[in-house]
Amino acid sequence: MYPNWILQRAYLTPLREALTYEGQTWTFNELNELAIKRARQLTALGIQEGDRIAIMGPSMPNLIVMMYACMHLQCELVMLNRRLSASEIAYQLADAEVVALLVADEDANKLPQNAPVHLFSVIEQGIEKEVTIAKEWPLEQTTSIMYTSGTTGFPKGVRQTVGNHQASATASVLNLGLHIGDVWLCAVPLFHISGFSILVRSLLYGNKVHLYEQFDVDAITHNIVNGDVTHMSVVAVTLERILHVLEEKNAKASSRFKMMLAGGGPVPVDYLQRAGARNLAVAQTYGMTETSSQTATLASEDAMLKIGSAGKPLFFNQIRIAEPNEQGEGEICIRGPHVTPGYIGRFAQKGATIDGWLHTGDIGYIDKDGYLFVVDRRADLIISGGENIYPAEIENALLAHPAVKEAGVCGKDDEKWGQVPVAYIVLKEPVSVEELISFCKHNLAKYKMPKEINFVHELPRNGSNKLLRRKLKEL
Ligand code: ATP
Ligand code: MG
Repeated sequence: MYPNWILQRAYLTPLREALTYEGQTWTFNELNELAIKRARQLTALGIQEGDRIAIMGPSMPNLIVMMYACMHLQCELVMLNRRLSASEIAYQLADAEVVALLVADEDANKLPQNAPVHLFSVIEQGIEKEVTIAKEWPLEQTTSIMYTSGTTGFPKGVRQTVGNHQASATASVLNLGLHIGDVWLCAVPLFHISGFSILVRSLLYGNKVHLYEQFDVDAITHNIVNGDVTHMSVVAVTLERILHVLEEKNAKASSRFKMMLAGGGPVPVDYLQRAGARNLAVAQTYGMTETSSQTATLASEDAMLKIGSAGKPLFFNQIRIAEPNEQGEGEICIRGPHVTPGYIGRFAQKGATIDGWLHTGDIGYIDKDGYLFVVDRRADLIISGGENIYPAEIENALLAHPAVKEAGVCGKDDEKWGQVPVAYIVLKEPVSVEELISFCKHNLAKYKMPKEINFVHELPRNGSNKLLRRKLKEL
């Protein structure tokens, strides 16, 4: 058994600042008291210890209080992505078989009709009922359930336990270090593991979270240059937006700022070089919903030596490549205390691991120095005339052309070769197909050259803004 994180943190450092949002700040003690009150109000509404509860709302303090209240009640929190459509939400609610749904007032209209809803405002004004808050949590208790992005198929509901989150936060701090006064800026969704893991770290480390509801690039960049933030999490797109503002203002990150964790997908080399010029240390990370955040991280000092690598595993984790080909590429498998015990709902029988190893569905290799390189997703692999072709490589070649804004590549059936790569492109400025083809010839072997280039207005993406290559074929 381990101490209830929220009670323990409020006991250890009650007066330390826990959360800042729009100029208002709460201590750990204040957050805990609010969460206990909310837990009593939820109890009055019939919510009981261990219930599976869905929750949805914008990244605001009231969402955090509601999450902590559910954690106090040891509920299994199903985090709903507020960018999903009503039908996608309906799928997750049915799959998770939740007993109740807690929703911020501003999100009520996003729900499927007939969903059994408790609005935040109603809960917050409701009566309280006495309830015993557990002082200890078992390691195997499910804290959160998050659905994968659904990039390769139906989203899978992943269990994330007390033990998973603790292992993840501990491994992260063994890598990054910790100082009193560290402040994590959170502008990634709290319903996603990137955001929720910032809250877990805050409780375990006792550091403050500076929360932003939106990715307000000007306010965030101002904080990086002049404010108190020391750490933040980004994806490639948001990193680029911050770099753009820093360059426009000819500004640098403050000397207080320590590290930006960049995950969710590969970060273009060009961004790393630009970040270096702005005093912005960027650590690339590789992780997924099934590993409650980071599995591997590339130290900032290695970024330029190991360009494109996702780094080495964090201390408790192991990574191996299953059935590598001649180039050493194969499926990335992960073992460690941060790996989920399994899925819920329609994938409950699937089992997350084989002999303790999570088979990620990602293809990668480990170089001679032990650095992991993520190549692409196995599901998107194109086999053409017996040769393996990874769409990401072709997309990167196309993206290097100044006229190309976005690129997506998938396989198309072909009588002669089995499959051939075809490309879909969103343009920044006009360019001909011939020009793009001759541009790619410098970087791609002949068999990898896209056999068709189609210009489109947008590429199919999911709620996490990830490219859906399986939908490209339908364009
Ligand atoms: P689904 O499992 O439903 O298809 P998903 O895998 O996109 O969706 P997430 O758990 O949100 O859902 O994303 C994790 C995936 O993101 C990883 O398995 C990997 O494919 C990709 N990814 C994460 N970090 C990196 C990275 N540094 N480089 C390349 N790809 C990455
Ligand atoms: Mg996945």
